[in-house]
Amino acid sequence: MRYFVSTSIPYVNDQPHIGYLWEAILADVFVRFQRERGNDVFFLSGVDENGLKIYRSAQSKGWSVVEFVQETSNQFFKLKKEFNLSYDGFIRTSSPQHQAGVEKFWQMVQKDIYPGYYQGWYCVSCEDYFTLEERPDRFCPIHHKRLEELKEENYFFRLTKYLNQIEDIIKQDKIKIRPAKRKKEVLKMIKSDQIKDLSVSRSAKRSQGWGIKVPDDPDQVVYVWFDALINYLSGLGFGQEEGSGNFEKYWQEAGAIVHFIGKDIFKFHTIYWPAMLLAAGLRLPDEIIIHDFFTVEGEKMSKTLGNVIKPEELLTRAGVEPSRYYFSTQPNQFEDSDFSLNHFDAVCQNELKNEVGNLVSRIFGLLKKGPAKIKLDQNLFEKEINQTSLNYFANFNQFDFRKAFAVVFDLVKNANKFIEEKKLWQGGSEADFKTLVQILFKLAEFYRPVMPEASEKIRLALDLTDLNSESVFINRRNNFEPLFE
Ligand SMILES: [Zn+2]
Repeated sequence: MRYFVSTSIPYVNDQPHIGYLWEAILADVFVRFQRERGNDVFFLSGVDENGLKIYRSAQSKGWSVVEFVQETSNQFFKLKKEFNLSYDGFIRTSSPQHQAGVEKFWQMVQKDIYPGYYQGWYCVSCEDYFTLEERPDRFCPIHHKRLEELKEENYFFRLTKYLNQIEDIIKQDKIKIRPAKRKKEVLKMIKSDQIKDLSVSRSAKRSQGWGIKVPDDPDQVVYVWFDALINYLSGLGFGQEEGSGNFEKYWQEAGAIVHFIGKDIFKFHTIYWPAMLLAAGLRLPDEIIIHDFFTVEGEKMSKTLGNVIKPEELLTRAGVEPSRYYFSTQPNQFEDSDFSLNHFDAVCQNELKNEVGNLVSRIFGLLKKGPAKIKLDQNLFEKEINQTSLNYFANFNQFDFRKAFAVVFDLVKNANKFIEEKKLWQGGSEADFKTLVQILFKLAEFYRPVMPEASEKIRLALDLTDLNSESVFINRRNNFEPLFE
């Protein structure tokens, strides 16, 4: 099957923190899982560089906007290499490629765009308006900043025209929203009448022209949310005269389109984005996976509190694969989770190194002392391994990676118990050794999307391509190096 998978595109008005890293790792784990199964995936990430907020951040630092977005975008892009993220594309919304996509898209939905007056209470950080009914205190609920009253003439997108259609699509899970609590929230939002036509442009003067100009009206720039969503298309070459082949292949003709996003932006992805695609006559996404947020030691992560955890800090403490392991196995995607460096260190040490790493080293040690050739035709631990496989796949299909890996960790613990109970260091039957081989083989498979390097190390040491082989020869010459330092 052919997949398109995306992360959201973070605003580059600040350095990356672990919230973005977490989302990127989850998406990457899903992508690697699919690729392992022979599926063809285009994996897209990128950065959002437009909008008044970026312009103001650059200004306050005394930088030109172009230099500012270049510098901060690099901070995000370098995570790809640092954390072994397997993006195929990385789209910057200030690029000519994105601009071409937005212009084309605007023309495709022109019939649903009309000029009008907008008056409202605006949060610069959200780039969004609030009504006085929503915020009688005139403060942004997310940024706790005073809202600015704005009135301006700009363009509107006839969003309301598509609301009934979107309601049906979501009800019928044609766009599947996970978790179910968010689906309920979206449907409630649609019913509540608070969704109005969307104002999709802003005065170009306010941001000194920073942003994408509205086609045929240089006094207006495209509203940053309207332009940002189009990254999923422009990242595939949509709007390019040449090289839009990926758009046809991985969007229009994709078997499945999966967006990974955070809970703060689900309104944009579950209502605005489908409406925009319907207006343009383009294919809709299939899955929208919405994660919650981190607190740090019980507090909201914030610059003022000085508790922002930078991805690099985790690399220094534990390395790439333990960091990937932590974010795939620990936080509950669908609830807020608390992060602490103590917990991070404890998981890397106690769970990963002492349990998983030790089990693998231990088995290779035992195999060295066991028979030189093991026939693979006897059953013992097979039932447990098969059950683990079933649960692992079932949870993966529900996008619940944490649960999938909890099942694998149970297998690790049971395998350690098995070795203890059978006192295998004193020797064992051939069936026992077969079990050990099976466990290693399956661990390498299960952990491959999260820890590709550790998995590869196990596979190479085991030198076994599939469990249907008749027998496996154990390499007695080499010592197996520990997986985790
Ligand atoms: Zn705000």
